[in-house]
This record gives sequence, structure tokens and C-alpha cells, in this order.
Amino acid sequence: MVTLTDISQQVVQEQRLRQADTWFATLLNGINDYAALTVRPDGEVITGDPGFTRQTGYDLSAVIGQKLGDVLKTDTTGGDLRLDEQLVVAERDGWHLQEGWQQRANGERYWCQRLVVARSRDDETGPIGFSVILRDVPRREAAAEDLRRVLTRDHLTGAANRRHFSHAMEREQTRWRDLRHSLSLIMLDLDHFKAINDTYGHPVGDIMLRRVAEACAPLLPPRGVFARLGGEEFAALLPRYDGQQAIGLAEDLRAAIAAIEVETAGTILTLTASFGCATLDEADGSIDALIALADKRLYAAKRGGRNQVFQPQAAAA
Ligand code: GH3
Ligand code: MG
Ligand code: MG
Repeated sequence: MVTLTDISQQVVQEQRLRQADTWFATLLNGINDYAALTVRPDGEVITGDPGFTRQTGYDLSAVIGQKLGDVLKTDTTGGDLRLDEQLVVAERDGWHLQEGWQQRANGERYWCQRLVVARSRDDETGPIGFSVILRDVPRREAAAEDLRRVLTRDHLTGAANRRHFSHAMEREQTRWRDLRHSLSLIMLDLDHFKAINDTYGHPVGDIMLRRVAEACAPLLPPRGVFARLGGEEFAALLPRYDGQQAIGLAEDLRAAIAAIEVETAGTILTLTASFGCATLDEADGSIDALIALADKRLYAAKRGGRNQVFQPQAAAA
């Protein structure tokens, strides 16, 4: 069992290459031309692809061995980061995405999305350099929105990803502190999910995971966030929900998951999940304590027989 006690630390590690993978997949499917470069930790360009010349007008020989930021001039008047500054942020956070005006070799300006991704070593002892992707985007607002969706969603289920969820928790924690609204968290873990994979195969498991997100996300209130935290664990963040409201919604989610039917190999598969709910008041305003409490209750629901929402009152009685 995975106990989620330090979500923020795990987020930083996980986001490093996952997000980049998703982004690359979009690029490969996408309509926009792009340029890809690899860069040393100090910003010196190691390799580039022909897309770079098409987009910027610079020969690769003019950039290889140079600091990318010295060749590609960025208009920073609007507060944009220079390339060397993006590298610093990418080293800390795993990646950094920015869009703004960039100059081609002939002096012409174009609107460019720039993604810088830290490339970690297999042993994760720090970045060995960066990948830089440049996209020339004519429709800047729509394109930025598409990209934002890609970076905030889990690629398999379309639920919010862990990183986005973590940011949402921090934002709502601030509101909770300022406005004293209640804030609740539901955590859920699918029951005996390994058996589904083992019996019917991983692709069937993936279908089930997608169906869970499809069944649950629409039941959330407008400001709620439904996320896949990893594997077969999901969570719902519920601004303005008190403990009883959270338990009520968790009951609805439980029933929605139990109603899922997936037909495979002539059989109808069903699945269930176990739930733990907690409020930020109970956790004295600490996000880590909130997650730990919901997680503890979730595993109490598992021990209680699964396919259930842990009920604090019932346990205290
Ligand atoms: P429990 O009721 O105690 O939670 O039992 P469980 O079998 O669900 O628990 P366990 O944590 O042992 O197994 C989780 C399984 O989830 C193991 C792994 O194969 C599966 N899993 C994790 N991520 C994915 C995924 O992305 N796709 C698929 N198909 N399976 C996944
Ligand atoms: Mg699990
Ligand atoms: Mg499980």
C-alpha cells in the first residue's frame, strides 16, 4: 500500500519526465512544427534538429557550442524569463513553460512557446542537461489553453494530475486561511485492482481507470477538483464542503464506481473502491496532515471490508 504523506515532495520528482512525455506525445500528434534542442546545464547547445533552422533561420552550426540565450534573443520587456533563467527554474521544478516574442535570424519577431525540461540521470542525482522545445504558434491564446490542459491533466484518464492537484490544494489552503471556508478532501483507492490486471491484462485495467474518472468527475461541484494521484488512487478536493458533505459525495462516488460495467472476453467486469474523507479543520490547516488523515481513514475502510466510505462517527461510537 502506498501511504501518501508527503505529496509535495513526490510531485517534484514525478513531474520531471512525465510531463515531458505527455508534451512530446502531443507534439508528435500535433499540427505545429517544432524545434528540439539539447542543452548542457550551463546553457550550451549540444544538439538541435532541422526544425530549429526552419523556425529560427539560424544554421545549427551557429548555435552548437554557444549559449542558447546568446543566440536566441527574447523580448523580456513584458517580464518574460530569459532562457538562462528558464534553465534555473526548470532545474528546480522539472520543467518551465513560457511563451512570448522571439527573434528569427532575419530580425523578424514571432510568437514562440518555449518548454525547457530538465533531463535527469537514471539515478536521479540531478539534471544532466535540458531539452528545449520551441513552437511557433500563430493562435496564441487557443494554443496556450491546449497546452495548459496537457500539462495539468493525467494522460490516461484526463483527471487532473498530481501536480495540478497539489497546486489546487495550496491555493485552497490560502482561501481556507483567509476566508475560513471549510475545505474537504476525499481519497479513494480501487479495491483488489491488481487482480483485474492479473486476470484480464493491463489494457483492461487502463479502461477501468478511465471509466472511473469518467464516472466520478461529473459528480463534483463546479469548484471541486478530481485528480488521479497515481496508480489506482484518486482524490477529490472540495472547497466549501464540510465533513458530512464530503462523506455524502464520497457515497455517490462509491455508488457510481460500483455501477461501472466493462465487457471483456464475454464477461462483465465490475469494480469497487474504498474511501477516506477529511477536512482541513481537522488537520489544523496542514495539507500533509489532511492527506495523512484521509489516507488513514481510507485504509480503515479497506480493513472494514472495502467498497465503503469510512465513517468517523461510526468508528467513535
Ligand atoms: P487493495 O484493495 O488493497 O487496494 O488491493 P489492490 O490490488 O488494488 O492494491 P495494490 O496496491 O496491491 O495494487 C494496485 C495495482 O494497480 C497494482 C498495479 O498493477 C495497478 N496499477 C497501477 N497503475 C496502473 C495503471 O496505470 N494501469 C493499470 N492497468 N494498472 C495499474
Ligand atoms: Mg493503491
Ligand atoms: Mg487498490
